[in-house]
Amino acid sequence: MNKGSLVVVSGFSGAGKGTLMKNLLAKYDNYALSISCTTRKPREGELDGREYFFKTKEEFEEMIKNDELVEYAQYVDNYYGTPKEFVWSQLDAGKDVLLEIEIQGALKIKEKFPDAVLVFITTPSGEELKSRLIGRGTEAPEVVKKRLERAVQESEGVEAYDYILINDDIDTCTEKLHNLIRAQHERAAQHIDIIENVRKDLRRIEDVTANI
Ligand code: 5GP
Repeated sequence: MNKGSLVVVSGFSGAGKGTLMKNLLAKYDNYALSISCTTRKPREGELDGREYFFKTKEEFEEMIKNDELVEYAQYVDNYYGTPKEFVWSQLDAGKDVLLEIEIQGALKIKEKFPDAVLVFITTPSGEELKSRLIGRGTEAPEVVKKRLERAVQESEGVEAYDYILINDDIDTCTEKLHNLIRAQHERAAQHIDIIENVRKDLRRIEDVTANI
């Protein structure tokens, strides 16, 4: 069976990554969403094991020590990291694994797994981002401020991504993301073995004509 692709989705906080992930999972059955570990406190309505595995700082540092994470990073005073086991098992099962992670983690993934596809999601403007973050109402004003400052920093590493998607309309953006992940399966590196087999076949065919 073909292995799935590793897909990293980052973007400005408030750009709509979460909704995009939900849409992909609801519409198509080839995706698995990795659930990260974090030391931040659960927001209202968040469940341990659904949005995140919520950990204490000590627990998280133990996971780092035991090499249980594919990558991890610090973001606005908390640790966030991707557990290894789920990612490997889902890729082996042929699923396209979605990692909704921030830029430091994304760059580590690209370094370790050059075949991973990195997608950055943005709003059309900074004003739009600010109003979406405030409108969400899940964060205290000082956290919103920190996240907007962090967004400025994050935009500085964006050249490393393979694709930038503007989330103007969530359904259009979902389809675009799905299509480019499908296209990823057709990239040359994924099919080198097939070309090798065709070459072997062709050599054999040449031998046959030589004997006629
Ligand atoms: P939030 O606190 O809003 O849930 O997430 C804050 C940031 O951490 C988001 O940009 C999110 O994509 C990122 N994040 C979530 N999980 C991980 C992870 O496992 N690793 C890294 N590097 N970033 C993550």
